[in-house]
Amino acid sequence: MTRIIILGAPGSGKGTQTQLLSQYFCIPFISAGEILRQEIKNNKQNKKYIKKTINKGKLVNNSFIIKLIKKKIQEKIYLNGFILDGFPRTIEQAEFLNKDIKIKFIIYLKIKLTNILNRIEGRLIHEPSGRTYHKILNPPKKKNLDDLTGEILTKRKDDNKKIISTRIKEYEIFTKPLIQWFKRETLTNSIKYFEINSNNSIQKIHQDIIKKLNINLKN
Ligand code: AMP
Repeated sequence: MTRIIILGAPGSGKGTQTQLLSQYFCIPFISAGEILRQEIKNNKQNKKYIKKTINKGKLVNNSFIIKLIKKKIQEKIYLNGFILDGFPRTIEQAEFLNKDIKIKFIIYLKIKLTNILNRIEGRLIHEPSGRTYHKILNPPKKKNLDDLTGEILTKRKDDNKKIISTRIKEYEIFTKPLIQWFKRETLTNSIKYFEINSNNSIQKIHQDIIKKLNINLKN
């Protein structure tokens, strides 16, 4: 059973690398941000709260996201493993996972601030599926159109300079401490932790992750 967590700052390439890894290893993925964006569309009751929080660049409430993730990972397709993108983002979320879910690999995508801004600036999304592109670094086959459906790509509302600075602050305060937390976990249980240089090209990062995982999947 392969359960992988992809950890990193906003714009570090979590979503892109998750999609590539999912295809390569045929493991389904769960994106916390995507679950929340779908909730905005489908859940009238929570729509306002999620939208407001995301558009401020703040993290949603721990108990709120934990409830959604808990429900999601119980779905049949995730029984044999999954890749988690964007969860956990706080110690409380990590503690929830650690309670009864055995995680095998933590992949931390390490990136410089200047590259974060670059990545976010050019990011495009296919809203119905959550597929992401980058105008220059990962362009769609046809300009502004999704490769699979041909539907229009848009820019995420929270991908702007003002909101990103709050998102980075939230990351520094709540998510970055998880790196030490997970490193400590590797001492007492079988979690393996890898740091990947995420300032490289998408393909190079992908190859670096695969190398690490392949070596360790064999052992
Ligand atoms: P992402 O698509 O991963 O960039 O997430 C977009 C936004 O969704 C974040 O800026 C947060 O507002 C919210 N979000 C995503 N994942 C989490 C999480 N694990 N905990 C709290 N908020 C989250």
